[in-house]
Amino acid sequence: MAKRDYYEILGVERGASEAELKKAYRRLAMKYHPDRNPDDKDAEEKFKEANEAYEVLSDGAKRSAYDQYGHAGVDPQMGGGGGAGFGGANFSDIFGDVFSDFFGGARGGSRGGAQRGSDLRYTLELDLEEAVRGTTVTIRVPTLVGCKTCDGTGAKKGTSPVTCTTCGGIGQVRMQQGFFSVQQTCPRCHGSGKMITDPCGSCHGQGRVEESKTLSVKVPPGVDTGDRIRLSGEGEAGTHGGPAGDLYVVVNVREHAIFQRDGKHLYCEVPISFADAALGGELEVPTLDGRVKLKIPEGTQTGKLFRLRGKGVAPVRGGAAGDLMCRVAVETPVNLNKRQRELLDEFRKSLQGDDSHSPKASGWFEGVKRFFGDV
Ligand SMILES: [Zn+2]
Ligand SMILES: [Zn+2]
Repeated sequence: MAKRDYYEILGVERGASEAELKKAYRRLAMKYHPDRNPDDKDAEEKFKEANEAYEVLSDGAKRSAYDQYGHAGVDPQMGGGGGAGFGGANFSDIFGDVFSDFFGGARGGSRGGAQRGSDLRYTLELDLEEAVRGTTVTIRVPTLVGCKTCDGTGAKKGTSPVTCTTCGGIGQVRMQQGFFSVQQTCPRCHGSGKMITDPCGSCHGQGRVEESKTLSVKVPPGVDTGDRIRLSGEGEAGTHGGPAGDLYVVVNVREHAIFQRDGKHLYCEVPISFADAALGGELEVPTLDGRVKLKIPEGTQTGKLFRLRGKGVAPVRGGAAGDLMCRVAVETPVNLNKRQRELLDEFRKSLQGDDSHSPKASGWFEGVKRFFGDV
């Protein structure tokens, strides 16, 4: 079957301007688009015809070759001109241009169904000291990176993806559902508008391969469990030229042997001898910066909190450092020798009959008496 004249196909004069060609093509493409004419062979043929005509006539060099030699001047089968013929790349470029307006950005405003890669999450375990002071850690993250063999196209070296036959390169298909026509991402090409006939061996046509990335992460001082550090562009590679996702490093601070953390404040328990608690004294207490001395007044009871200002954590979002709260716990002496027992026994006798030395116990016994009504 002889090919129809390209100008005739588009219904324009031979001297038609670029704008007139485009307008004519757009009208035909909308009329015969496969999504609007499902299972209509005739429309499909007309659609292809219009595409071919527009592809040639919109290209200055091809158009003049066509004007001079007719179909023989542009037909790739004739071997003339060494032109690209009707390769997929040019083809979809036309679509990108012409269809972007009336598909209303349904392709996400980006060409060829490009999709951003997924964000990744990495849990980073830190010691309290590291979290408080900040640190730099090296992490290995399994991720998807762009395939180097095919430059991320997914097509075998030397080949390139061809236009998807299901959607005609649009990346979208219309599905009839009752009265409604619903536009969906093309199931065959997943919106890229292209199909890979000869997949790359390294990535099996995915354009991305799994790889472990080694990254250096700078952890600012003051981070706490649940804080996230965002590494822009270090997530999974995008598809079809889309941007990479981000990597979120989520901090998890390990439990500490001495300190408990509550926001910017630190808490610790300090054992204190029975004699120091009674007589008062000086204790050494731990802080993240080393030991400091803490004066304990006489008569200190278990549970008393001593606040060391500014010895907590400087918050990562700024502001004054928190405090270190030391809770004292009076320790009952054990393993007493004979002499120590005698002293304590003597001490015990000295207290008898005088509850002014036991502020808690006297109040407690009063409470018990009231409770049983035997006052
Ligand atoms: Zn498709
Ligand atoms: Zn590949």
